[in-house]
Amino acid sequence: MNGVSPTGSRLAPIRHVILDRDGVLNRELESGWLTDPEQWKWEDGAIAALAIWSTHGTRISVATNQSGIGRGAVSRKAVDSVHAWLSNEMASLGVELVGIFVCPHAPDESCDCRKPRPGLIRQAVEKSGIPAAETIVIGDDLRDLAAGRAAGLRVALVCTGKGPRVRDSLEADALLFRDLIEAATRTVART
Ligand SMILES: [Mg+2]
Ligand SMILES: [Zn+2]
Repeated sequence: MNGVSPTGSRLAPIRHVILDRDGVLNRELESGWLTDPEQWKWEDGAIAALAIWSTHGTRISVATNQSGIGRGAVSRKAVDSVHAWLSNEMASLGVELVGIFVCPHAPDESCDCRKPRPGLIRQAVEKSGIPAAETIVIGDDLRDLAAGRAAGLRVALVCTGKGPRVRDSLEADALLFRDLIEAATRTVART
């Protein structure tokens, strides 16, 4: 378990958490793209985790690659409808949502927002107004962490979604959480 900062120095408190979506907040579909809130299945612990962050006033962003839009497999409207639903769900949990930041581009479009590039993460940091030092990126894939790192943030892997398959390749600077409940518990302990 990588529970300690690389330098062992005292870390700034965490006031803003940037979450990946698929495999972190919701179960990934076995195939295809999520186009309707009816298909949404919360990952284990996600609702409880959001409630913990909400109680502590930790701001939340979601940063998600949705290349199905750029590939023509799903409409922007469908993705937006899922996110409008998600925003409402989060509001009902008391979450202070900064925003849901979407990369709609296909991989061959060479945009600057598709993770592992840092564009989405930077958008979230800028909109939050919270310093990067008080922000963490949590994802289930190494490209989420690469994006966070490229934006100069602390990063953590959660062992849902793709997490169990990639955890052996985790770099030493990353925190590792079993699930989102542990992520919430441990991050609010730093506030
Ligand atoms: Mg994911
Ligand atoms: Zn993009």
